[in-house]
Amino acid sequence: MNSATASVDPAPINLLDFDRKGLQAFFAGIGEKPFRATQILKWIHQEGVVDFDQMTNLSKSLRSYLTQHCTIKTPTIVEEQLASDGTCKWAVQMHCGNRVETVFIPEQRRATLCVSSQVGCALACSFCSTARQGFNRNLSTGEIIGQLFLAQQRLGPEHRISNVVMMGMGEPLLNFDNVVAAMNLMMDDFAYGLSKRRVTISTSGIVPAMQRLSEVCDVSMAVSLHAASDELRNQLVPINTKYPLKQLMAACRDYARLGPRKHITFEYVMLDGINDTLADAATLIKLLKNVPSKVNLIPFNPFPQSNYRCSDAATILRFRDSLHNAGIVTTIRKTRGDDIDAACGQLVGQVQDKSRRHIKLQAMQASSHAG
Ligand code: SAH
Repeated sequence: MNSATASVDPAPINLLDFDRKGLQAFFAGIGEKPFRATQILKWIHQEGVVDFDQMTNLSKSLRSYLTQHCTIKTPTIVEEQLASDGTCKWAVQMHCGNRVETVFIPEQRRATLCVSSQVGCALACSFCSTARQGFNRNLSTGEIIGQLFLAQQRLGPEHRISNVVMMGMGEPLLNFDNVVAAMNLMMDDFAYGLSKRRVTISTSGIVPAMQRLSEVCDVSMAVSLHAASDELRNQLVPINTKYPLKQLMAACRDYARLGPRKHITFEYVMLDGINDTLADAATLIKLLKNVPSKVNLIPFNPFPQSNYRCSDAATILRFRDSLHNAGIVTTIRKTRGDDIDAACGQLVGQVQDKSRRHIKLQAMQASSHAG
């Protein structure tokens, strides 16, 4: 046999990339019964076992087949930072070297994991540091659920993660299939068993994907609104030029109506002098009139070279009271982990293929220091 015809072993299949349906299809394909899917899910996601030989309720022949053809490959935690308030931020490295950040936020009555969906982000929201690094690639299902797997392993059984928010790096609805499969695993009783109220997807408003989501996956929805007029939202969240407020609000109404979901959470970052006046609050109240809503005001978290300032505390409270008086449940997001840059909008990754830009920058800095 010459080298051109020699068969090359195909890359092993990563079982972490499958939700229950995917695993059932995989096992059907190799002539195994569907219940193998739930057995494997329990081993991986509940027992934390990634070695097929330790999966004692699988037949010996199946174990040896899986060892030969499959793998359970998680990303790796390469850095851990603990904030004074107990918030923990991990840099999680993917196999190709890209890194994203995952944040654990312990509270009195819940423990939330903030999960990333993409390396970088394509959306260029003007107040977000992730946007500054540009877009690199979508994370696979295994890389998304791998963040929950790793966090739960690291925290141990005494600190069970009770909530997941897809509010880390990236726009989850632009990585639709992988995010949906990962969220299915979060809610699967044979994996993490979180209720759909405790899994939240946050989107900048990818309208067609919001419609698709309501058909396949019943999770809580948060929408990054940040402005109540198209004119301002076009500047802050540029995807608004493609899916303007009229379309976005219709999609929100439909999402809230189609499932047993009670409301949409609207995120609204408080930017000094930009979107924080009482007139802005009045426009917002009008916009939300026919949508079952909650509003979450997010104090702006600064990052190097951000051109915005956070509204002062009195302005935020006044804005909240105004919404409240109009009958809208409004909360102010507590800033967590800001001493380790783990707060909203402060997450940055490591985008490998942008390295030439870094090198160029370093070279420029070196020459300016030398000069
Ligand atoms: N792309 C998704 C997921 C990101 S979630 C989305 O847009 O919803 C992160 C949340 O933090 C979003 O509401 C985002 O708009 C907000 N955010 C981004 N930068 C911020 C900053 N510097 N300060 C406060 N909130 C910020």
